[in-house]
Amino acid sequence: MEKLIIGHFYPDLLNLYGDRGNVLALLRRATLRGIEVEVKRISIGDDVSNGDIDIGFIGGGQDSEQNIMADDMKNVKGEVIKQMIEDGVVFLTVCGGYQMLGQYYEEHGGNRIECLGALPHYTKGEKERFINDCIYEIELNGQKIKVAGFENHSGRTFLGEGEKPFMRVIRGHGNNGQDGTEGAVYKNTYGTYSHGSLLPKNPAITDMLLELALKRKYGEDYVLSELSTEVEDLARKQVLDYIEGGIRAAQ
Ligand code: GLN
Repeated sequence: MEKLIIGHFYPDLLNLYGDRGNVLALLRRATLRGIEVEVKRISIGDDVSNGDIDIGFIGGGQDSEQNIMADDMKNVKGEVIKQMIEDGVVFLTVCGGYQMLGQYYEEHGGNRIECLGALPHYTKGEKERFINDCIYEIELNGQKIKVAGFENHSGRTFLGEGEKPFMRVIRGHGNNGQDGTEGAVYKNTYGTYSHGSLLPKNPAITDMLLELALKRKYGEDYVLSELSTEVEDLARKQVLDYIEGGIRAAQ
């Protein structure tokens, strides 16, 4: 029986808008396929070594929480997380977690948080927050898919050399409200500004991450078994209808 270990970093500090739902979606779509999943909580004071996990998840947080975990992430777990990313461990990081993988985050008030520096992007806070239901487009297996999301951030993130955008913004602001990019991809590490229900509502992305992790662990020939997306598709359609047409679901 295949097994995946998910490392949920700083779950007590970085968990805005139910970001943990992404971990639950990975767990659900893996276990429905008969894949065993263990979720490890890894926060300040917890040890982690390269090789311990197959998928890492870091959620979003407020500036104050990012200030609390920044030292642990950079100076305690930093080298291990960087090694994991370089070795192709699959990571999904959201908003604050995504910002923290970059070079620095300069808050609107001027306070500068030195980030991990695993990815080349940097982030500058502005007074106006970007708060929106969003629609993005992603290309997976040659197919363009509409992704439903939600953003709430003051940070504007600018990508650096060697990383690519994760998605394209159709509606919302994405990385910075200027260049139409949303999130970042470097090796098997993904960053996004889209909170909470990214994976629960977008099963194609959940499956893409699971398949990447399983291929890495069990060989490139590993094929993820088919699994219905009917329920998740209904949830996504409801949100897309609402965003695109202002149509609310019947109560
Ligand atoms: N504190 C960061 C910002 O406002 C991240 C917020 C978040 O994770 N939603 O840009």
